[in-house]
Amino acid sequence: MPKPTIDKGKCKGCFTCVGICPVEVFAKDGKKAKIAKPNECIGCRACEVQCPQGAIKVED
Ligand code: SF4
Ligand code: SF4
Repeated sequence: MPKPTIDKGKCKGCFTCVGICPVEVFAKDGKKAKIAKPNECIGCRACEVQCPQGAIKVED
């Protein structure tokens, strides 16, 4: 099962990931993003590619 993670130290709170994930894995958590629904991830890697900070990694 793919497993997305956020490096909170790198996240700048642009919320690109919140908007781009097709299954709403991410949510806003104050000024950072958080993983709200990890089990929904389908491993498309859009978040990993699009995060401008390189803060997201998706493990297979
Ligand atoms: S796309 Fe990256 S920098 Fe932007 S909110 Fe998500 S994890 Fe943070
Ligand atoms: S890999 Fe795709 S489905 Fe998984 S969290 Fe990233 S954007 Fe969402």
